[in-house]
Amino acid sequence: MVKLHSLFPSLEFQERFHYAGELGAIYHKHQTTFKLWAPTATEVVLITYPSGHNGIGHAHPLTLDKNGVWVKTLPGDLHGVYYTYRVTVEGKTQEAVDPYAKAVGVNGKRGMVVDLERTNPKGWGRFQRPALQQHQDAIIYEAHIRDISIDPASGIHFKGKYLGLTEQNTKGPGGVKTGLDHLKELGITHLHLLPVYDFYTVDEADPSTKEYNWGYDPHNYNALEGSYSIDPFNGEVRIKEFKEMVKTLGENGIGVILDVVYNHTYLTDNSNLNKIVPGYYYRQDAYGKFTNGSGCGNELATERSMVRKMIIDSIMYWAQEYKIAGFRFDLMGLYDIETMNQIREALNTIDPSIIMYGEGWTGGHSPLADHKKALKGSMHQMPGIAAFNDDTRDGIKGNVFDQGNCGFINGANWAKESVKFGIVGGIQHYQVNNHGVCYSHHPWASEPSQTVNYAEAHDNLTLWDKLAASVNWANEQERIKMQKMAGAIILTSQGIPFLHAGMEFLRTKYGEYNSYNLPDEINMIDWERKMQYYDVFEYYQGLIQLRKSFSAFRLPNAEEVRKRLRFFDGYDEHLIAFTLTNEEPKLESLHPWNKIVVVHNARNFDSEIVLPQPDWVVVVNGKKAGINPLAKVENDRVIVPARETWVLIDSESL
Ligand code: CA
Repeated sequence: MVKLHSLFPSLEFQERFHYAGELGAIYHKHQTTFKLWAPTATEVVLITYPSGHNGIGHAHPLTLDKNGVWVKTLPGDLHGVYYTYRVTVEGKTQEAVDPYAKAVGVNGKRGMVVDLERTNPKGWGRFQRPALQQHQDAIIYEAHIRDISIDPASGIHFKGKYLGLTEQNTKGPGGVKTGLDHLKELGITHLHLLPVYDFYTVDEADPSTKEYNWGYDPHNYNALEGSYSIDPFNGEVRIKEFKEMVKTLGENGIGVILDVVYNHTYLTDNSNLNKIVPGYYYRQDAYGKFTNGSGCGNELATERSMVRKMIIDSIMYWAQEYKIAGFRFDLMGLYDIETMNQIREALNTIDPSIIMYGEGWTGGHSPLADHKKALKGSMHQMPGIAAFNDDTRDGIKGNVFDQGNCGFINGANWAKESVKFGIVGGIQHYQVNNHGVCYSHHPWASEPSQTVNYAEAHDNLTLWDKLAASVNWANEQERIKMQKMAGAIILTSQGIPFLHAGMEFLRTKYGEYNSYNLPDEINMIDWERKMQYYDVFEYYQGLIQLRKSFSAFRLPNAEEVRKRLRFFDGYDEHLIAFTLTNEEPKLESLHPWNKIVVVHNARNFDSEIVLPQPDWVVVVNGKKAGINPLAKVENDRVIVPARETWVLIDSESL
C-alpha cells in the first residue's frame, strides 16, 4: 500500500482530503464544536483543561468525518476552557495545540476556547480601520511592541506591553512626546508591528523577564504573544488589550500592520503542525528531508492546499477580528505566487485598502520552482502586492552587508540610478537606466504602489550606525545632513514610504547588525535621543507633512509617474533633481500644486541648479522641512548647498 504521506504533494491527495469548511474550536453559547484536519491520523482525542498551564485533563475522542477532518461537539458554554489534541499517526501519539487556536494559555502550550464577543472593548463594533484611498498614501513606521516603551524614561506606564500604546500624554526626557503621542506628532499613517502572534522563545511565565526577541519564531499563528500582555496566564486578556490598542491607534488615524511569518515555524519535527499531520506542512527534498529555504530550519509548503487554506484563514481572521490594516510578509519569496494572489483576492472581499507587502527574496535554497516563488522579480504577476525595494535601500546608503560600502547620500558614485529607481516607484521610466540599478536590471513594479521605499529596517545596521561605519571622515553634523537626505529621498519618492522606528532621531543599536535577541539597552527606543536630536525629528515630521499635503509624491499609477515626473539631465552621479508637473487634467491634492522641484545634492559642494521657470518657494532645505515658505527664488536659478535636499514649489501654488 502506498503510504499516504508520499501523496502529500499530489492532486489526488488534494482532491481526497481538501476541506473547505471552518476548522478550530467553533464557539457557540450552548456548545462548542472542535474540528481538526488530520487525514493521516488513526485516532484523535480532545483533552480539555481548566487552565492553560496546569490541572488535570479530560479526554473526549473525536470522530473521523469527511476529508480527513475529525469532529467533536461538547455541550455547554466552554469559553475559557483550555484544550489540546492527542493525535496518533502510525502508532505514535503526540499532544499538540490546535493550529487554529484563537486564544492560548501561557507560553502557548494549550489552546483556549474563546467567545470573542467578550473580548471586544467598548465601541469596537462601530470602530473601523482608518480609511486609505490608495496604498501609496500610507506612511509606514516599523516598530516593536517592547522597544517603543521599555525605556525607563519613556514616561509610559505599561512598558513593553500592548497597553503601552494606548496611553496618551506620555512624556520623555525634556518633555518630548513618547509612544502613541509621538506617532501622532510625527504624522505616520500605519504602525507596522514586528511579530505579535504567539512566538516561542520569550518565557511568558516570568513577568519580569529580560528576555527579548523580535518574534520571528512562530509558535501559534492565530493567537497573540503573551509576553506583551499584563496577564499572559489568561488567554482572553491579551486579546482585549490588543483590540484596545488597535482601536486607540485607529481612532488617532493610525492603522495597524502585522508582520506575519507563515514561511516557517520555530519548531520543526515537534511543531504542532508536524505532530498533527507529519510531513504535510513543510517542503521536503527528494530524500524526504525538510528543506530550509527560510534559513530557520524548515519552510512551509504554501502551495499545498491545506497549508494555503490555513494561511488564508489566518490572514482573514486577523483582518476581520482585529481590523488589521495591512500585512508584511517575511521572506515572501518562499510563498508561491498563487497563494499570495489568493490572499489578495480574499482581503479584497473585506477591504481592498488593506496593504500587502513583503520581502521579495528567500532565506536560503528552496525546492519551490523559481517561477512559482513570490520574488521581487515576479511582482508583475502580483497586482495589489508590494515588495521592499532593496535596490534603493542600498542605493541610498550602501550595501547592508558591507559596512564600509557607501551609497548616494554618503558619497558613492555608483548609486544614482538605484536611487532614481525608487524615486519613480520601481516602475519602468525612460529616464532610469535599469542597467545602472544595483540588483534589479529591469523595473520590477508594474505600479508605484508595488514598491516599498526604505533606508533602514529592523535588520542590519541602523542608518545612523551605517553612516558611522561607512563615513568616519564625516563629523556628526555632516552625518545628520545625510540622514536628513535619506528621509527626504524616501518621503518624496513614488510608492510606499517605510520608516524604521527611531530613525527620525538617529536611532543607534551601537553597531549591532542582528539584534533579534539582544537586551533592551541595544534595541529600545531611547527617548532621550528625541530631545537631543529634536531638529532631525522635526525635519522628518515636516517631510511627512509635505508628502501628505501634495499628491505629487503619491501619484496614482505608473502612467501618471511617467507623464508627470522628469529628471533633470546634465548632472553628475552625486546630484539628482526632478520636477513633478500637475498639468491638465489636474490631480486632486490637499494642497493645490502646479510644479514641484526636488533636488538631492549629495555633492560635497554647493551647486547651482537651472530651474524650468522662475518664481519658486522653498519648503525644504537642509535645515527645515514642511509646507511653510522658507525662502523665495525669483529667477530660474538656485544654489543648493552641499549634502542638502531642497524642495521648491511654484509660487502660484504657495
Ligand atoms: Ca509566546
